[in-house]
Amino acid sequence: MPIYEPVLLKNMSQPGYTGSLKDYEKAGGYRALRTVLGKITPAEVTHLVMKSGLRGRGGAGFPTGVKWGFLPKDYKGPKYLCCNADESEPGTFKDRQLMERDPHQVLEGIAIACYAIGVETAYIYIRGEFVLGANILESAIAEARAAGYLGKAVLGTDITIDIHVHRGAGAYICGEETALLESLEGKRGLPRVKPPFPAIAGLYGKPTVINNVETLANLPHIVNRGPDWFAAIGSPPKSSGTRIFCVSGHVKRPGNYEVPMGITARELIFEQAGGMRSDKPLKAFIPGGASAPFLTPAHLDVKLDFESVAQAGSMLGSGGVTVMEEGTSMVWAALRLTEFFFHESCGKCSPCREGSSWLVQTLRRIMAGQGRMQDLETLTDLCQNIAGRTVCAFGDAEVSPILSTLKYWRHEYEELIRAAEAAGPAELLMPTATRH
Ligand code: SF4
Repeated sequence: MPIYEPVLLKNMSQPGYTGSLKDYEKAGGYRALRTVLGKITPAEVTHLVMKSGLRGRGGAGFPTGVKWGFLPKDYKGPKYLCCNADESEPGTFKDRQLMERDPHQVLEGIAIACYAIGVETAYIYIRGEFVLGANILESAIAEARAAGYLGKAVLGTDITIDIHVHRGAGAYICGEETALLESLEGKRGLPRVKPPFPAIAGLYGKPTVINNVETLANLPHIVNRGPDWFAAIGSPPKSSGTRIFCVSGHVKRPGNYEVPMGITARELIFEQAGGMRSDKPLKAFIPGGASAPFLTPAHLDVKLDFESVAQAGSMLGSGGVTVMEEGTSMVWAALRLTEFFFHESCGKCSPCREGSSWLVQTLRRIMAGQGRMQDLETLTDLCQNIAGRTVCAFGDAEVSPILSTLKYWRHEYEELIRAAEAAGPAELLMPTATRH
């Protein structure tokens, strides 16, 4: 099995590493911040990040340096950086590990980003359930302030950088960047209609950049080792760097694996994660969190980079790879994911709010052995009337488990329905879908 040099997970894999400031400094931590602060101009830091090819690791994969460049030039008022740590995508658990096991790596990345975009105040919006991570980050911020890495006059310069931790209240939708901003402002976390985009009118109506935890944690390494080093890893020029894939499901060794982007799904699942947990063959996998369409064994040689996975009809998304073995009911899998999306729909727009309810009810009926063939057309029609017609990308996400299972495993839906028809007429079951 190929062994790859870890970058983001390197410190925490050293014996005895605690994530304390002392340990982080001993491992070369905060060297990158010293390198840039007051010595390289903010524009040069942005250029360096652009040159590295770093793309967002939260889901959308937007080029980080380009995103920073959207902030208005010479803006005089306050601007903000928000670190999106609301990691709630089912099957995704990498940011949690980064924050809990090496918090200063994340803080140093945030501080470098703040300097590059001229921001004095950054917020880490952390998923409410990550109590341990929030406590660890708060302690790490206190340590970094006491050591002069944060606060006023950072490292003896006239630069101020402050970081605050804000705990979410447990809504998946607050991982959507504008819902995150609403929630941070103390309002109900509902996505905003765009434009304006956060770079122009974000937190408190001010220019704001929102970056994911893993994205920001890469910055110290790009500064220390150079953009060319980063750009050469993985699948350049569009998918550079390493990626932490969260492998879960029916594999022998579920967990986080940091590998160069562009290794195949086969290598990740069968070599890094040890292969299938039993003698049953692989039936399906989701390559990028619950929002990404399912793929099949025919896609095992697809490279795990942004372009290749998109060409295969799915997306790299959050890096959550969920593996399912032969024998798994794909109708059941689609129902479980749709129930999650139904529960988490914020209700702002009717295609998603009402449509998700109808999707769940129809799938539950099919699973309960009372489906009809016309349900398959109803499901397809509902999905087509949700995708692309909602305020945020959640609408596209919630239909992907259904459309992709209908595409590859339609026969499983039909078998359930034929069995129901053979059993004869039954009282029509329409279980009410209720949000809790
Ligand atoms: Fe809310 Fe769903 Fe509309 Fe997004 S698509 S705004 S989650 S109702």
